[in-house]
Amino acid sequence: MNFTREISNRVVEIKVLKKIRNRHTYLRVKNPLLLEISTNIFFTKKDAQKLIENKIEWIEERIKNLEKKALELNEYRFLGEKYELNMSLQELDKFYRKNAQEIIPKLVEKYSLEMNLFPSSIKYRKNKNTWGSCNYKNGLNFNIYLCKFPLEIIEYVVIHELAHIKHKNHSRNFWNFVSIYCVDYKSRIKLFKSLL
Ligand SMILES: [Zn+2]
Repeated sequence: MNFTREISNRVVEIKVLKKIRNRHTYLRVKNPLLLEISTNIFFTKKDAQKLIENKIEWIEERIKNLEKKALELNEYRFLGEKYELNMSLQELDKFYRKNAQEIIPKLVEKYSLEMNLFPSSIKYRKNKNTWGSCNYKNGLNFNIYLCKFPLEIIEYVVIHELAHIKHKNHSRNFWNFVSIYCVDYKSRIKLFKSLL
């Protein structure tokens, strides 16, 4: 059983899936133009309309959220600014890598001299949640997606990883050392977390 109904100024298709074994009724917003009701064989169109009426606020909220998500897929972030996506996701990855490899070495060079700490190598990776790391050989790794964020955040991550050449932990000494080169590191971490 399918029918349509106007919700939030758009024509939404309602798909009712009836199964003998179903004991409960589930309502899902599959996408902004499709609701799916999974239910038992006795469920009527009237029941469906009543269910939608009762849940209308929740449905509208879900539609709004799904649309926002879809919109975000059409954007990309670079150095803290939003831009309209005008390339494929593969090209976007290349763009991030190219820029990471231009921006990060300059920052590493600057802070290496200031901190008198020099990495044995710098590598660039595509990670989900690791933004930077320092291995036991003092090789640094940076996530190419770091250049989505404002420069002050990239700078903080560079200082953080360079500091690990001296302190291989997150002890009080480590943070004291970081604070010499990045006085406001706490507010930068806060900003970073708010953007993740
Ligand atoms: Zn660390």
